[in-house]
Amino acid sequence: MKAIRFLGNGRLELADVPRPTPVGDEVLVRVRVCAMCSTDVRYRFLAPDPLPVIPGHEIAGDVIDVDRPQYVKPGERVALTVHAPCGGCEPCRRGDGAFCENLSKYGSLRDGGNAEYVLAKETSCLPLPDDFTFDDGALIGDTLGTAWHGVGKLNLLPREKVLVVGGGPIGLACARIAIWLGAEVTLAEIGAHRIALARALNIPRIVNPNTDDLPAAVAEITAGRGFDHVAECGGNEATFQAALDAARVGGKVVLLSMVKSAPISPAAVVCPKELTIMGSWNFNSREYRQIVRFYRANRDIVNLITHRFPLARAEDAYALFMSGKTGKVVFQP
Ligand SMILES: [Zn+2]
Ligand SMILES: [Zn+2]
Repeated sequence: MKAIRFLGNGRLELADVPRPTPVGDEVLVRVRVCAMCSTDVRYRFLAPDPLPVIPGHEIAGDVIDVDRPQYVKPGERVALTVHAPCGGCEPCRRGDGAFCENLSKYGSLRDGGNAEYVLAKETSCLPLPDDFTFDDGALIGDTLGTAWHGVGKLNLLPREKVLVVGGGPIGLACARIAIWLGAEVTLAEIGAHRIALARALNIPRIVNPNTDDLPAAVAEITAGRGFDHVAECGGNEATFQAALDAARVGGKVVLLSMVKSAPISPAAVVCPKELTIMGSWNFNSREYRQIVRFYRANRDIVNLITHRFPLARAEDAYALFMSGKTGKVVFQP
């Protein structure tokens, strides 16, 4: 089968590799759509272990072969979770596969979906509803699920004021989820392409901190109090600081992006405002039905996908995605 492989330190190749065979609780999925994620780019420039590895963890396709599965059958259409949970440890048994004690992950710790086929754990297979396309499936397993879980941590009340910092796919999904839950949403984003995409997705209020005075905008929108809730989806020190600064006294800040490190002043911000700062990590299987329900009512979110590539154009696809001038870039093997 054809597959893209990361060779470490930024190098990739298009290779012909043997089609894998499922063993035990594994299933073979024919990949229909695999969406690219900033995590893929991060792995590309590391020397991930094992190497070489087939990248891609936002996967939708159909099951074509199984060995001894308990519930997944050939012919089923599935979206895969990011992680490949063991299914037997304590976190797995309560539905928290993202915290599996024997964790594996597509596209880094095991081969992923930038290929014609992927060997998946049965525990990763989310049933794709009949009315959902493979594009929908590629978005639901990470972008929408991760955003749903993060926004869920805020326990939003209708009409509360929410700031989403960073308008990448997860930030835009967070904004749409918060709107659906009845909140008044503002997005802070500096990239022209992302702002255009946010407008196309009907995000009602967008502030560009490069051209607008963000603290003044926060004060104006919130009558000087600050936002009830902030979702940090920007992924850098400046967006992290902006998130803390924009929250009101007693406000909640949920961190969805992977800010590597950032200084934090408890004395200046966190204690005087009694902020609650929460990390958020993927989503759990108990939330899947709600995520499907949300997405069914918000199908235009599929417009997050802006570009499609065959595997053979891997270099072009990754280069375009890394330019920041796209929404979701997907491979259609
Ligand atoms: Zn991802
Ligand atoms: Zn486990």
